[in-house]
Amino acid sequence: MPIRLLSSEVASQIAAGEVIERPASVVKELLENSLDAGARSITITIEEAGKKLIEVVDDGSGIPSAELELAVARHATSKLIRSDELFSISTLGFRGEALASIGSVSRMTITSRVQNEQEGARLRVEGGAASKLTKVGTTVGTTVRVEDLFYNVPARLKFLKSDVTERRAIDVLVTRYALAYPDRRFKLSDGKNIVLQTSGDGDRRTILAALYGVDVAKQMLEIMSEEEGSRLTGFISPTSLTRSNRREITFFINGRWVHDVSLSTALLQAYHTLLMVGRYPLTALFLEIPPEEVDVNVHPAKAEVRFRNQDKVFSFVQRSSRKTLLAYSPIPNVAPSLWGTTRIVSSEQPRHTGLDWAIGHDEQLPVSSDRLPVSSDQLSVSSQESSIANRQSEIASIPLLRLIGQIGATYLVAEGPDGLYLVDQHAAHERVLFEKLMAQHAMKNIPSQSLLTPAVVTLPHQSSSLLITQLPLLQHFGFDVEEFGPNTFQVRAMPALFLGSDPSVALRALVEDFEEDESPLQNEIEAKLAARVCKRMAVKAGQALSSEEQRALLHDLEACDSPRTCPHGRPTMIHLSVDMLERQFGRRGAR
Ligand code: ADP
Ligand code: MG
Repeated sequence: MPIRLLSSEVASQIAAGEVIERPASVVKELLENSLDAGARSITITIEEAGKKLIEVVDDGSGIPSAELELAVARHATSKLIRSDELFSISTLGFRGEALASIGSVSRMTITSRVQNEQEGARLRVEGGAASKLTKVGTTVGTTVRVEDLFYNVPARLKFLKSDVTERRAIDVLVTRYALAYPDRRFKLSDGKNIVLQTSGDGDRRTILAALYGVDVAKQMLEIMSEEEGSRLTGFISPTSLTRSNRREITFFINGRWVHDVSLSTALLQAYHTLLMVGRYPLTALFLEIPPEEVDVNVHPAKAEVRFRNQDKVFSFVQRSSRKTLLAYSPIPNVAPSLWGTTRIVSSEQPRHTGLDWAIGHDEQLPVSSDRLPVSSDQLSVSSQESSIANRQSEIASIPLLRLIGQIGATYLVAEGPDGLYLVDQHAAHERVLFEKLMAQHAMKNIPSQSLLTPAVVTLPHQSSSLLITQLPLLQHFGFDVEEFGPNTFQVRAMPALFLGSDPSVALRALVEDFEEDESPLQNEIEAKLAARVCKRMAVKAGQALSSEEQRALLHDLEACDSPRTCPHGRPTMIHLSVDMLERQFGRRGAR
């Protein structure tokens, strides 16, 4: 094929592909334009997850009618003139690409008016082709209506995720921007309901509640740190509040939501040794640094940045977060020489207890401990059938234990035929509940118990739309949950196993960590749901248990198929073998 210049239509669709990936990208670009135009109030309406309609109405400065046609042209911007300005950008936009891109993959109508003109103007762009400008009466500001996104790029449409997921991406995006700009009024509606509305009074914590729910918002720790022209504000979660992925770690740099690996790493370092393996904090952090310190022109959707002095920014974020964290949640008070950093280890190291015995640390994690002798009665049971599966469960099982007591209201101490066992009561209880629930589930018989007074639970919007998709599953688990109004649910029954626990806690556990677009095999979902709820329902560290409760817990644990780990894979117990104790006390094989 001969070399030819691409037609402008094809070229702009290619360019659009970089900027406009999904409905949420349209919302982001339009929001940024409104913010750049100094809007005090921004109203966003979406229909069908943004695929049918995205409309953004603002009361910003507007576009003069003489410039409207230019605004939708590629590389047309009012925000940048000279190339050296590229390195001190103080607006969110500067590429002059967004409106042109959106116009080339949708049917877009812009209506705008500036203060010193009597009338506004309107322009329609369909698949990149602009209509004639018409004059219209309108208030000062700009309205952009984007209909039938990707109608002319069916391949893009196919790449979109479920409506629930696309919708969630928009909800989350708008809420985060609202949080970044608490002094502007945001309103997001889906044509029927108002999903989010902020007052513009500058109070970030109320907006945080819209994002995470009131309980979480209350617990979040506020950061306020300043140093040499840089400022870090916002919220980080205490160590007790974590998620199973990094998705809730968010940063805004100079008002722009960016995904920056080095900043998340800096933050995770601040949590070093304070979080369990595989757990991540939630953050909404806003970093302001002089514009010339950061290069924002490195990513088409402006989602990544480069710092002039990366180490300095890194260290600033890390120190500020650590300070805040320690001020609010001092490191648990256990003698470090003995306990090391027992269960609380770096979130970067996978599967390692960090158990740091001063000497002779040659004992493997109890999880994989195949040197454990099996108690005699268990042997007699399993010797009858010696399949590999049996052999494995035999290794995983634990001997009968004699309870000695509870320490720190957190660990049970027990003696076995072969030494000392320290059992993490929370992890152990999690395991016990999980196996009971899954066993009942396998029998298709989860005893459900009606609540005397049904519990009414209100969830943040995003969580409730997730929950709605999971309602049929919950039935299987003995929950009777019904929608009870916008974002509100009524729990009428819950599994008998959890009776006495707070049903709202269970409900929240079901949605809080839910991965976007999770659609593995059904039974994986179910096991995941079960693990999630059991975690919440299990006794906590720091909860004193009666001797009966301690004994019952140990007994139940002994009966488990996989007593050595909690459903999330962390150890339930540490075993100090007689052999090891003898060596530690220099009774045998002294070195
Ligand atoms: P950029 O934001 O990178 O300049 P866009 O394609 O997003 O490029 O917008 C082009 C121009 O149109 C902007 O530079 C701005 O002058 C104008 N514009 C776009 N949206 C708005 C708005 N909501 N209010 C006022 N002006 C706008
Ligand atoms: Mg823009």
